[in-house]
Amino acid sequence: MSKIMQGTDVAKAMKEELILKAEELKQKGVIPALAIVRVGARPEDLAYERGARKRMELVGITCKVMELPEDIGQEEFERAFSRVNADPNIHGILLFQPLPGHLDANPVKVMIDPLKDVDGMSPVNIAKVFAGDETGFAPCTAEAVVEILRYYGIGLEGKRVTVVGRSMVVGRPLAMLLLREHATVTICHTRTAELEAECQNAEILVAAAGKARMISGEMIREGAVVADVGINVDENGKLCGDVDYEAAETKAAYLSPVPGGVGSVTSSVLAKHVIRSADYFAKNACKHCRGVVV
Ligand code: NDP
Repeated sequence: MSKIMQGTDVAKAMKEELILKAEELKQKGVIPALAIVRVGARPEDLAYERGARKRMELVGITCKVMELPEDIGQEEFERAFSRVNADPNIHGILLFQPLPGHLDANPVKVMIDPLKDVDGMSPVNIAKVFAGDETGFAPCTAEAVVEILRYYGIGLEGKRVTVVGRSMVVGRPLAMLLLREHATVTICHTRTAELEAECQNAEILVAAAGKARMISGEMIREGAVVADVGINVDENGKLCGDVDYEAAETKAAYLSPVPGGVGSVTSSVLAKHVIRSADYFAKNACKHCRGVVV
């Protein structure tokens, strides 16, 4: 039977450290603050927002929500976003995506201050993550996988890791973070010729495809570490991952559950990024203008 990698344990361990850092910042007169920018009120955004707010409050981060009407025009949306972006009391910005179909997120990805881009959507942060530069912010979900592996003492150096999924929010940045830790990384996608063999070859397998239970027991190497990023609703309306959990339990040495795995660590990584950003602003803010010295 697998050792279950509980996201809540990882989040708890991260919480203690974040509380201390937030307290240190407060003593220097800086209250770490996250702005959530939400257009409309999709139930999944509201659910994530509730969790994120709770996590921020627990560690001492102020969370401000900018709720914009679903029918907001592009220009007004960009104006509202630039106000948050320029606010010296905000250290991190999280924009819920996807935006409604009539809005284009690309202008704000370019506009966002890379120092406040705590979920890694700016091309500056993407480039840094791809270059292995640790000053860049990676998307929180991708980094959450690395946090879980680190917490459970799973070494990455020299390990064969297969990532199923190549999106810009999970698969690709995660592959780069793993590469930075000296893993030998294979990225799979819908055109991968021998997906089963690529998965079987993996000492560490990460599923981030968004397909309910697509990773069967046969695809898992005996004794592998399996991290499941997928969040899906199965035919019975039940939440499940990309991995066939029951089958995986008999093969994997370590396994992350859904729910309660990677998803439970994402908002802790977000909090970690906000604190890091607030710390940067605290160290670099010019006393006279409250701007940032670059
Ligand atoms: P996307 O749909 O953007 O990307 C899915 C990727 O998986 C694509 O690269 C796609 O390949 C690949 N893929 C899909 N089906 C298969 C298949 N049958 N075989 C091989 N590869 C496949 O999804 P995201 O990256 O945004 O999200 C992935 C999953 O992670 C989702 O379930 C999502 O809900 C979850 N998620 C979880 C978060 C968390 O906090 N835990 C946060 C963000 C996402 P191709 O490029 O060829 O199309």
